[in-house]
Amino acid sequence: MSSPPPLVINDKDFNVLKKKSKDYYSLLLCKKAQFPNRSLTLKREFDLTGDQIQKVYILPHTVCCEPYIKAFQYKVLNSILYTNTKLYKIGFATDNTCSFCKSHPETLSHLFFDCIYSQSFWKEFQHYFHFISKELVSLTLKDVIIGIIDSNRPLLNYLLLIAKLYLWDCRRTNMQPEIIGLKHKVKTKFEIEKYVNVKNNTLDKFKRKWALNGNLLLNIYFSCRNHILLWFRN
Ligand SMILES: [Zn+2]
Repeated sequence: MSSPPPLVINDKDFNVLKKKSKDYYSLLLCKKAQFPNRSLTLKREFDLTGDQIQKVYILPHTVCCEPYIKAFQYKVLNSILYTNTKLYKIGFATDNTCSFCKSHPETLSHLFFDCIYSQSFWKEFQHYFHFISKELVSLTLKDVIIGIIDSNRPLLNYLLLIAKLYLWDCRRTNMQPEIIGLKHKVKTKFEIEKYVNVKNNTLDKFKRKWALNGNLLLNIYFSCRNHILLWFRN
């Protein structure tokens, strides 16, 4: 029986007669763990190191557990959301203008940050975050697109993901973004997570996620209704 032709994978000889199933599995895994092509553009655009780009892709998995939010952020990072610029290019939209301001091309950076409506939304988001956490934040395009990777602010990063998804939902439903819409979304998330964690007897985990700077006081409800401060009493 003739030997199989030599195979070179990742610059190394891969002898199919000697390799075991775990070697094939490792090959599959190393392919899966490769960065998408878009990561090079992100690195260049936001001046990121190799370590930082790794954090960018890991961040959604550490701050949220909802698969659809992780998938959404993956699309943002890889620039595969169908903005009007993309839809126009492939003939699925009659023009490429922004769904909010109707005056600039709807690129990802315009829609999520540069648009006058998004700018006003993020300004209100900053006030909102300050209100619930007493922390000041001044968001940049980089913070909005990839998250804040070099600081330990899981709740802020989680809220940034929800806020971005909210902007996308507004675009999808032809609505102008308003901070009250996000506040209600956050409040709903908060209530659902509290309910699930109480049921699962994992309230400590819930408190760790939502308590800010060790404070057990949160103004999620207050921000919606301008009354009632919520104490974690359970
Ligand atoms: Zn716009």
